[in-house]
Amino acid sequence: MEKLLACAATLRRHHFEVDTVHDTAEAFAIIREIIEAEAPKIVSFGDSKTMRKTGIIDWLRENGDWTLLDGFDASMSRPERLEIRRQALMSDLFITGINAVTEEGTLHWLDMVGNRIAPVAFGPRKVILVAGRNKIVANRDEAEERIRRIAAPQNIARHPGFRTPCAKTGVCMDCNSPDRICNTRMEMLRCYPAGRIRVILIDQELGL
Ligand code: SF4
Repeated sequence: MEKLLACAATLRRHHFEVDTVHDTAEAFAIIREIIEAEAPKIVSFGDSKTMRKTGIIDWLRENGDWTLLDGFDASMSRPERLEIRRQALMSDLFITGINAVTEEGTLHWLDMVGNRIAPVAFGPRKVILVAGRNKIVANRDEAEERIRRIAAPQNIARHPGFRTPCAKTGVCMDCNSPDRICNTRMEMLRCYPAGRIRVILIDQELGL
């Protein structure tokens, strides 16, 4: 928890709102509180194992007056899902995870499609981000290393049929495959406007 508290203090200096919690149940309670206070008309999300582990997506489906834009609905075709992810750029509230958080108070992602990072950067009025303690690293170099060595190769394992070198070996070869999942990198240095983004740091090992 000490590491989380230090990281939270740095992120707050960079104008993020931050909570530190012990587990995903506490994270769920905070996310629910934020959503109820914001009363959004349209809510959407970028895929994140940590976010799903909190149970918030199931709760969003079953409660509230909002419309939930689900760009990962397996009953839809890929073009339909991509169109929903495009509409999510104009949602009122957006939830997703983070690939790495640095003790220097910055946030890091690497995306295939860009549907996670685009609405984090601009669009939705409120953004909620969740991350387990395993996502905390010292600095930008370590964040990039973490993404290259851990997050991306493990993420590809969730996509059977993707023909990339890491799918075979588990090691990144900085490939040029059409299936490459590492296409756009984002580093967020400060939160603007202040308080738009709420980061919830969870003292558990979660996600990729
Ligand atoms: S760049 Fe290619 S090989 Fe490296 S992790 Fe991404 S998809 Fe895998």
